[in-house]
Amino acid sequence: MRFFLGTSASSWLRREDVGVPLCVAYPRLATIKGELPRAVVPWILDSGGFNQVTQRGEYTVTAIDYVRAVRRYADEIGNLRWAACQDWMCEPPALARSGRSVNGHQHLSIDNYITLRGQWGPDSPFVPPLQGDSRDAFLRHVDMYARRGIDLTGAPLVSVGSVCRMQSTPEIGRVLGALAGLGLRMHGFGVKTLGLRRFWPLLFSADSQAWSKNARENADDIYIDVPEHTHPRGGKTCSSCPVYALAWRKRMLASLPVAPSHTVMELPGIYGEGLSALTRAEPPRVRYRPGIPIYDRRRS
Ligand SMILES: [Zn+2]
Repeated sequence: MRFFLGTSASSWLRREDVGVPLCVAYPRLATIKGELPRAVVPWILDSGGFNQVTQRGEYTVTAIDYVRAVRRYADEIGNLRWAACQDWMCEPPALARSGRSVNGHQHLSIDNYITLRGQWGPDSPFVPPLQGDSRDAFLRHVDMYARRGIDLTGAPLVSVGSVCRMQSTPEIGRVLGALAGLGLRMHGFGVKTLGLRRFWPLLFSADSQAWSKNARENADDIYIDVPEHTHPRGGKTCSSCPVYALAWRKRMLASLPVAPSHTVMELPGIYGEGLSALTRAEPPRVRYRPGIPIYDRRRS
């Protein structure tokens, strides 16, 4: 699994001291007035759809403007691996805000993928999104693509939204297991730590910004693996802090359980070279002040 660290700070793209693959959301880049940062690391673009759909019930940027912006990011920022579509997630708050059905959101997601791809032309960076609220809904979405002439099993990558934020981990497993069984190469959007620990062998790649919430909620904890540092603007927590984020990333990746061997046999293509060595490594030793939780996995 390739992991992209989620960040709200687009300036990390140009920072050699951050130096890991990043996931940055469109709304963060859209606010930049002057010159865009030049990326020294590979990165992926999130459309910011979760906030758009759950808060506004629609996208406030048109598909044409989004394509124009992505083209500029690919040219001027560089190192862009791929971009998310303006897809329609299917969590209850998103459906409530838009007033549409799961089926409606699935159709809109395909429409948007086809529009973005058509606007871009050859070598489109847009990854087809899958949405749904259950295993059957996700499988229906794959069929809906097929009916429009798009065979996702032949796609280099599909993005899977909604599911990773589901409360029910058995249902997440059913969804990802069924999609992996079709041979899909999946990127998991906004995956929580618990989801990564359980399902990383099914994912080709994933991103997460769970470190930020973790830092905010556990601000008083002592993290022995976080080097001593200060915040330039005097921030009280590490919720937007690269030192903390990098330590979290290292700890999280090192703590992923080794995949069962039958998964390796079924899905030989999903393993990156580097990670198998990384996951065999011992998790970092963490000492703690008695009575203070070091790292609350349930919350991140
Ligand atoms: Zn910090």
